[in-house]
Amino acid sequence: MATIASNIQQVRGRIAKACAAAQRPVQSVTLLSVSKTFSPEAVREAFAAGERCFGENYVQEGIDKIAALADLRAQIEWHLIGPLQSNKTRIVAEHFDWVHSVERLKIAERLNEQRPAHLPPLQVCLQVNISGEASKSGVAPAEVPALAHAVAALPRLRLRGLMAIPEPGTGSAPHRALRALLTRLQGEGLALDTLSMGMSADLETAIAEGATLVRVGTAIFGDR
Ligand SMILES: *Cc1c(COP(=O)(O)O)cnc(C)c1O
Repeated sequence: MATIASNIQQVRGRIAKACAAAQRPVQSVTLLSVSKTFSPEAVREAFAAGERCFGENYVQEGIDKIAALADLRAQIEWHLIGPLQSNKTRIVAEHFDWVHSVERLKIAERLNEQRPAHLPPLQVCLQVNISGEASKSGVAPAEVPALAHAVAALPRLRLRGLMAIPEPGTGSAPHRALRALLTRLQGEGLALDTLSMGMSADLETAIAEGATLVRVGTAIFGDR
């Protein structure tokens, strides 16, 4: 049976190969290990193998895992990558470092108000419905610029970029469209540096199209 450590080596190899093919430095891509449904012990194994950024989909599961791994808190960056309802914003603002799934101004405003003063600004990405995803999660591309400028003005948030979950089997077009949208926002004066796209199945495509952060679950922790 493959261990988490050997899976991580393989994923790092895939990232390095994709970066080389795209003539990009390997440091230009951050690996986010998606630990949803896996135990705190699985996160410890990935941590021991050198991983420091972990992604969770479900707020309560993430909060429980952060608590179970309190001894590593200062060394881990916790990212929320799943849907966020307004009744959960406070606990997220208090415990996570990043939120990739902001899709409404109201949610951003609540996170901004509820981010504790002793913590650095919450790092956020806007989730974009780039390929008309069946899940319907994410803001429509046409609405992204207005939302981005509004979120960028909130002092307790730091808007870092865009996130998407392209529909499987749609090739590289969605990835390219997300990158074009980021480039447009940068051209409008927003200092954005993050393109969160690419999962176990499409990380090579995502890196070829400019991903700066890939969110990998299955290829590290196994099937869910
Ligand atoms: C589960 C999930 C991932 C990881 O997907 P894998 O296919 O297991 O690599 C990445 N991003 C989001 C938003 C997810 O929900």
